[in-house]
Amino acid sequence: AVQITGLQKAFGDLEVLRGIDFEVARGEVVCIIGPSGSGKSTLLRCVNLLEEPTAGQVYVGGVELTDPDVDIDAARRRVGMVFQQFNLFPHLSVLGNVTIAQRKVLRRSAEEADRIARDNLVRVGLADKVDAYPAQLSGGQQQRVAIARALAMGPDVMLFDEPTSALDPELVGDVLGVMRKLALEGMTMLVVTHEMSFAREVADRVVFMDGGVIVEEGPPSKVIGDPAYERTRRFLSRVL
Ligand code: ATP
Ligand code: MG
Repeated sequence: AVQITGLQKAFGDLEVLRGIDFEVARGEVVCIIGPSGSGKSTLLRCVNLLEEPTAGQVYVGGVELTDPDVDIDAARRRVGMVFQQFNLFPHLSVLGNVTIAQRKVLRRSAEEADRIARDNLVRVGLADKVDAYPAQLSGGQQQRVAIARALAMGPDVMLFDEPTSALDPELVGDVLGVMRKLALEGMTMLVVTHEMSFAREVADRVVFMDGGVIVEEGPPSKVIGDPAYERTRRFLSRVL
C-alpha cells in the first residue's frame, strides 16, 4: 500500500531524513518508534506530502505522490492522518466535523456523507455523540471523532502521529482500543507511538528510527523484545 525509496528530507542544512527505504503492505500495521527528533513525524508528513521530500519517491496505492505531474489533492485523499492534536472545528457538531471534508473535497451529497459519517462514528464507538460539539467531549472522544473523520474519506492507509500523547492517561485506552479494532479489520496503518505495549501487541512490524535513518526493523518480538543494535537497546531502556 505504501512504498518509500531513498527518501531524504532536509530543512536548510539540517538533514532530517537521510535515506529511508521501506514498505507497508496492504493490511499491515507498522509502528515507528525512536527518540525525539529522529524524524518520525517528518517521515509521516512526507507520506502525505505535508512536507516535500528533498529526494526519493513515495508511492501510495501504486500512485507516485512525488511525481511532479500527479494530482496531489487526489493522491492525498488516499491517505488518512490523525495527529496528536485533534484539530476538530469547534463550531461544528461531531456530525459536521465528519461530513465537511466528504462534502467539500469528495463532493458527496449530504445524505451520503451523513450515512458514511454515522457508520464511521459507530466504528469508533461514538454513535450517541453525533450531535455533540467538540467542547462537550473528552480528549479521547475528540480523538476518536478525528479518527472517524479520516476513515470517512475511505483512505488506503491511515497514518497516526502519537495519537494518544496529548490525552490524560485514563483516556488512552479507548483510543488504542479503536486502533486495535481497525488493525483487526485489516486497515493498513503506519503508527508513530511511544506506547510500547500497543506496538508489541498490534504491530506486524516495528521500525526503530534514529538520526534520520532506520536502524532496525522486524517483528515486535525481535525489535522490542530482542533488539540487535545498542542504539535500540538504549532507547528501549529509557521508554520501557
Ligand atoms: P518527536 O518524538 O519529538 O515528535 P520526531 O522524531 O517526530 O520527534 P521530527 O518532528 O520529525 O522528529 O523532527 C526531526 C528534526 O527535524 C528535528 O530536529 C526538528 O527540529 C526538525 N524539523 C522538523 N520540522 C521542521 C521544519 N518545518 N523546519 C525546520 N526543522 C524542522
Ligand atoms: Mg514527532
